[in-house]
Amino acid sequence: MIMTYRQLGGSGLKVSALSLGAWVTFGKQIGNPTARRLMHTAYDAGVNFFDNAEAYADGQAEIVMGQILRKAGWRRSSYLVSSKVFFGAEGDRPNEDGLSRKHVVEACHAALRRLQVDYLDLYFCHRPDPVVPIAETARAMHDLIVQGKVLYWGTSEWSAAQIAEAQAVCVRLGLHPPVMEQPQYNLFHRARVEKEYAPLYREFGLGTTIWSPLASGLLTGKYSRGIPKGSRLATPGLEWLRDIAAGPEAAQRLAAVAKLAEIAAELNTTLPRLGVAWCLKNPHVSTVILGASKVTQLQENLGALEVVDRLTPAMMSRLDRISQPVAD
Ligand code: NDP
Repeated sequence: MIMTYRQLGGSGLKVSALSLGAWVTFGKQIGNPTARRLMHTAYDAGVNFFDNAEAYADGQAEIVMGQILRKAGWRRSSYLVSSKVFFGAEGDRPNEDGLSRKHVVEACHAALRRLQVDYLDLYFCHRPDPVVPIAETARAMHDLIVQGKVLYWGTSEWSAAQIAEAQAVCVRLGLHPPVMEQPQYNLFHRARVEKEYAPLYREFGLGTTIWSPLASGLLTGKYSRGIPKGSRLATPGLEWLRDIAAGPEAAQRLAAVAKLAEIAAELNTTLPRLGVAWCLKNPHVSTVILGASKVTQLQENLGALEVVDRLTPAMMSRLDRISQPVAD
């Protein structure tokens, strides 16, 4: 399996087609030795991007990742690490979350301390903040870039209109513009990446670092006979996620997963590899962020690189016919 690299949208940055994220797992669901093995397995396979956020395990995910990075001793130039600001980490007093200049700057400093690095390669606004002017957030991001604490800034789950407004503000004020967005994208969640953002790729060269490529595991087939012990949907605190496997639309989606399993068998591959490879077929996806609670899952999913070429236009049409009716 040979890693490939893609430009992050119109920027000069090269990001591995597959990357690794810390949500739910680092500092929470898995022990630190497993987190370490996951990062080493990824890095050894050519992954160069590790995704994190102030909110993941209330800052603990960044602490764990920082310790692993320090011990690994990898050249700083050989990997990218991100943080995201919005939800807060340590406290819940006013200004300890959101996208005000105060919190954007303080959250950056806190992430640098936790991750034990001098700069963040990518820094995302984790959600839009309706009470903060976009110009205030954009100028705070610009200043962090000028100070060398952040290299590229972007957004996560912003609407196309909000991203376009941020671009316009940056042009008007002469600020570094956002270069990437982090949206959810998988066979069951397509509209925003494929339709809503379409003008943004053309007009601004927007890059995307997409999340939940396997819909939190639903697309692996693991929920086809209930919720297994130890899986994400059985994890305390994540009850709100259970609807994807047990809610009103779940039956239709599980039926679609069964059809996808037949196609995976036809292609001589597995469901997780098919799901990840399908995301990689979209040229507007700069990197697919993988999540894994076990090294074997990560190894399995990295194998998706070998499946991409098997997804011919005819096969993509068949996958569309299964996914379109159940996707939002
Ligand atoms: P996925 O949709 O791929 O879900 C990953 C989970 O599915 C794993 O932790 C594991 O859970 C299960 N799984 C994965 N592969 C397999 C396999 N081969 N066999 C069986 N089970 C498998 O991705 P995530 O939802 O984890 O998202 C990836 C990353 O994206 C996150 O770590 C984070 O960095 C980012 N993200 C960003 C968000 C944002 O708002 N910007 C939101 C969410 C994620 P288990 O073993 O516990 O069942």
